[in-house]
Amino acid sequence: MHALRDHDQAVAQLRRSYAAVPPGKPVRLAKRTSNLFRPRSAPRTPGLDVSGLVGVLGVDRAARTADVQGMCTYEDLVDATLPHGLMPLVVPQLRTITLGGAVTGLGIESTSFRNGLPHESVLELDVLTGAGEIVTARPDGPHADLFAAFPNSLGSLGYATRLRIELQPVRRFVALRNVRFTRLEALTDAIAEVTATRAWAGEPVDVMDGVMFSPGEAYLVLGSFTDDTGRVPPSDYTGQDIYYRSLRRRTHDLLSTYDYLWRWDTDWFWCSAAFGAQHPVVRRVWPARWRRSDVYHRLVRLEHRHRVAARIDRWRGQPERERVVQDVEIPLDRTADFLRWFAHTVGMAPVWLCPLRLREPDGPGSARAWPLYPLRPGRDYVNVGFWGSVPIAAGAADGDVNRAIEREVSELGGHKSLYSDAYYDRVVFDRLYGGDTWRTVKDRYDPDHRLTGLYEKAVARQ
Ligand SMILES: Cc1cc2nc3c(=O)[nH]c(=O)nc-3n(C[C@H](O)[C@H](O)[C@H](O)COP(=O)(O)OP(=O)(O)OC[C@H]3O[C@@H](n4cnc5c(N)ncnc54)[C@H](O)[C@@H]3O)c2cc1C
Repeated sequence: MHALRDHDQAVAQLRRSYAAVPPGKPVRLAKRTSNLFRPRSAPRTPGLDVSGLVGVLGVDRAARTADVQGMCTYEDLVDATLPHGLMPLVVPQLRTITLGGAVTGLGIESTSFRNGLPHESVLELDVLTGAGEIVTARPDGPHADLFAAFPNSLGSLGYATRLRIELQPVRRFVALRNVRFTRLEALTDAIAEVTATRAWAGEPVDVMDGVMFSPGEAYLVLGSFTDDTGRVPPSDYTGQDIYYRSLRRRTHDLLSTYDYLWRWDTDWFWCSAAFGAQHPVVRRVWPARWRRSDVYHRLVRLEHRHRVAARIDRWRGQPERERVVQDVEIPLDRTADFLRWFAHTVGMAPVWLCPLRLREPDGPGSARAWPLYPLRPGRDYVNVGFWGSVPIAAGAADGDVNRAIEREVSELGGHKSLYSDAYYDRVVFDRLYGGDTWRTVKDRYDPDHRLTGLYEKAVARQ
């Protein structure tokens, strides 16, 4: 745990490095990891020093809360809470996603059908604003406008330096049922039932996500926390076995809670295949400590820089490829339509499915809305995630497939998260992502617009 005095010094260091950025020059975090996917313009000024803001300040077991620094990774956060039998209400699947990143850039996981998104269990947060001040924002009080607008602002309003979050009790294992569906409507009916009753076939459900391999073959993974292993040894997907493949092979499974939380990180869902890491021979020699999403992410960044694969494709006479890396939220009652459209038009598989409903802390009807990512309270959604590339068809342009996805998502009443490529024009973007609210809050907390704007970050790749 970090001492509070060290925290104060780290914040002072951050403020000094912010003051040192010349006016008019872009402000960037100097951070070792990132889970952003869009390429960005290279920084020309030194980044903000956040090196002292990567830890957990304290866990209050009785109150079930934690005080956490803004750039603490979920990997370190979980390491600090699990020994207390507690975990954050939503733990994004990739180990190096930070708490501040998930709150400002949105995150989602298999507890989201009952706990909503990571920002919905934040009790208060300290923010270094664009004006260079530290303010503490809470749901009520003088900075409630910043608290509401921070989620999905992607660091355009300020940087979170400390967050107090709620925690939930957890057991040592997760017992899983992999339920197969051959009709998408049957799958979405099952999601509706589990979301409403938090049970399936008479057994409780604490966690729910799923994978579609094709419209005729999809799985819901329904899990409950337990201390009782039934003397079955838990599975291990950090070695030769690969988690996503197990869904087709097994109807039941057991994982330690720790391994469950990071089940998708080892093979970056299924994307490690692109680096050969799922080939049995390569896998045997690929060091286990390098089977992690941040290692794959670094490889992708290298590829962005040097475009080796693209050059080999051109040399072999293959068409150029368009990157299609997106997570979209589709209303549950339109999810089957979207998945069929996606399979037909884009054709990438597998696809990750993660049901979601804004958190209702005091029962039905108690959800609040978040202006920069306006999901409708009380409505069920499914996050559909797909990460890969498709060949650019003759006569088509790079970006066409992503644009078609944006149109389809909007037509179905959905939303797209902004960590990857986006093509909206400014008017549409403002309508979809609370542009009026963002501008009002921006003018208050960053009057000189020193921090890069949301549209400039999300669409113009700055
Ligand atoms: C392939 C892929 C799959 C993904 N899948 C999931 C998923 O399944 N579940 C999920 O939850 N999320 C997922 N994400 C999205 C991820 O949660 C967001 O991109 C998140 O913002 C990343 O957090 P980070 O800490 O890595 O932030 P970075 O990538 O470092 O930064 C993201 C943005 O947030 C800003 N930022 C970072 N820290 C702070 C802070 N403390 N205060 C204010 N602004 C800050 C940065 O300026 C930047 O604009 C996925 C992303 C990718 C690329």
